[in-house]
Amino acid sequence: MSRSTDDKAGFSTRAIHHGYDAYAGHGALNPPVYMSSTYTFPAVDDGSARFAGEQVGYVYSRIGNPTTALLEQRIADLEGGEAALVTGSGMGATASLLWTLLKPGDEVIADKTLYGCTFAYFNHGLARFGVKITHLDLTEPENLANAISDKTRLVFFESPANPNMRLVDIAAVAAIAKPYDAKVVVDNTYCTPYLQRPLELGADYVVHSATKYLGGHGDLIAGAIVGPKESLDEVRFYGLKDMTGAVLSSQDAFLILRGLKTLALRMDRHCDNARGIAEYLAAHPKVEICHFPGLESFPQRELAQRQMSAPGGMVAFELKGGLQAGCRFMNALQLVTRAVSLGDAESLAQHPASMTHSVYTPEERAAHLISEGLVRLSAGLEDLDDLLEDVELALSKV
Ligand code: PLP
Repeated sequence: MSRSTDDKAGFSTRAIHHGYDAYAGHGALNPPVYMSSTYTFPAVDDGSARFAGEQVGYVYSRIGNPTTALLEQRIADLEGGEAALVTGSGMGATASLLWTLLKPGDEVIADKTLYGCTFAYFNHGLARFGVKITHLDLTEPENLANAISDKTRLVFFESPANPNMRLVDIAAVAAIAKPYDAKVVVDNTYCTPYLQRPLELGADYVVHSATKYLGGHGDLIAGAIVGPKESLDEVRFYGLKDMTGAVLSSQDAFLILRGLKTLALRMDRHCDNARGIAEYLAAHPKVEICHFPGLESFPQRELAQRQMSAPGGMVAFELKGGLQAGCRFMNALQLVTRAVSLGDAESLAQHPASMTHSVYTPEERAAHLISEGLVRLSAGLEDLDDLLEDVELALSKV
């Protein structure tokens, strides 16, 4: 192992170098993209031995591919996990993991607020197959302590939650779950390992939509799971290979490896821009409330400072005048782009109630603390002055 990839190297050094020796092979600075669905066996016995797990080697790219394997090594290292598994989408990551860990009769305790499709997978998917889904307000860890039982197999949450920015105390939840052997799964999409490392705080697994900050350029759909190697081997051979088939292509793995090289730089800029926008919004007379972990007014500011190294690149807010005012604001934006997704170079604004969280019924949204007038903004990498000018202009039209 070279100095640049050992355990003591810094985050960016590892994000650029870990797991790849640029002097090996042809000396290519960048890793090769292995575009092969299948792999050759020197003899039938070798093929049989690889299928039986008795010989190391690739078999078929639904199970593994050298380019995705390098990405897995790098993401595991950055999250501080034993192993990682990359998937064809963030939903593919969560589904592959949960189809492997759960069986009928198990209970999942999830936070109240989840990304819309995760909520749908739990309540319209897992629930149909005999898994009990219980939503609790996990911003108060005592709620978990009061409800957890031997049937609770898994505790799942996002922090910050998409879209309303509620935080969950990862260490406190993990301490409550451990005696019950309930596995704690944290969706770390909003933070990336640069801002928050849930495994170090006691979580068992991290899942990501790598579509977002990890890829970073809005040009692919991908996911990742990080956790114990033995368990992820099982997820690879069951949840991924047989249940979801949610495989990541080697070309997309290469693009994420490229994205990771600038992750720290990009996150710093995303955070600075989000802070600038949030502070501007929080002080504006037309804004009812602005949710951003870096604001003095943020109710969980102490937890944000303890758990995250910076407040992130996402801002959520409501205007006085609610939904109508929010729509007028979004339609007046000229630089910030109206689109779902997040973590791209372009700043993006969307309306969760009618877009990313439209799978909830209006009653469910109310119960899950997602207000109808909320606007979600992903701060991109543009110049802050230009973003503020656009926000100011759009607010003037409200
Ligand atoms: N988790 C969060 C927090 C998300 O925001 C998303 C997508 O927006 C997902 C998971 C799902 O990821 P993907 O769209 O890559 O399937």
